[in-house]
Amino acid sequence: MTSDQLKIPKATAKRLPLYYRFLQYLYNSGKQKVSSAELSQAVKVDSATIRRDFSYFGALGKKGYGYNVQYLLSFFRKTLDQDELTKVGLIGVGNLGTALLQYNFTKNNNTKIVAAFDISPEKIGKKIGEVPIYSLDQLEEVLEKEQIPVIILTVPASAAQGVTDRLIRTNIKGILNFTPARLTVPPNINVHHIDLAVELQSFVYFIKHYSDHSEKM
Ligand code: ATP
Repeated sequence: MTSDQLKIPKATAKRLPLYYRFLQYLYNSGKQKVSSAELSQAVKVDSATIRRDFSYFGALGKKGYGYNVQYLLSFFRKTLDQDELTKVGLIGVGNLGTALLQYNFTKNNNTKIVAAFDISPEKIGKKIGEVPIYSLDQLEEVLEKEQIPVIILTVPASAAQGVTDRLIRTNIKGILNFTPARLTVPPNINVHHIDLAVELQSFVYFIKHYSDHSEKM
């Protein structure tokens, strides 16, 4: 990413993959134009927010005409580094880890899990799909050899910080933390926390407390 693109607000950056996926769908079905209202309905983001998000990339749409799908798509592809495959490592091949290893991330975006790590002797040396499971002892060596910048963490919560302390000393840039543990990391490492139990609990709460819950999350 260029220094200009780094100025995009975090909330906008988070929505980009959403826009990208829908634009790809439109492009594949031969659609050439899309209005912010149509986009809004499809991705469930209000059209004012979409227009503001898009304004960070310069004037990409003309009033009354809508946005050019192909142009937007190539713009977002560049912005999201879609042309470049990002390698991902996964640590902890339990139930959730196995499910993520079996999920085809490459279908929707250009990321690929290329290595998994575990401490269980029954798992080490096996493969899930095409992904080899290495011993955690080989963590630093494999991350370096494969040049992996992103880690998915699916170990038990009790092991999360210990593994993270090792990751901190490697060249990784980010951890997608699926454990309930809050991780302590230095500022040069990004952590994104996805606690599925909390997500589900708050979703149930919103469903119970709001009659129109479609846009509140
Ligand atoms: P399973 O039933 O396969 O154990 P689970 O998701 O219920 O799955 P967890 O106890 O959450 O099991 O452990 C997830 C995985 O993390 C297991 O495969 C376990 O061997 C592995 N694991 C535990 N501690 C570590 C660690 N320190 N480093 C790497 N992997 C670990």
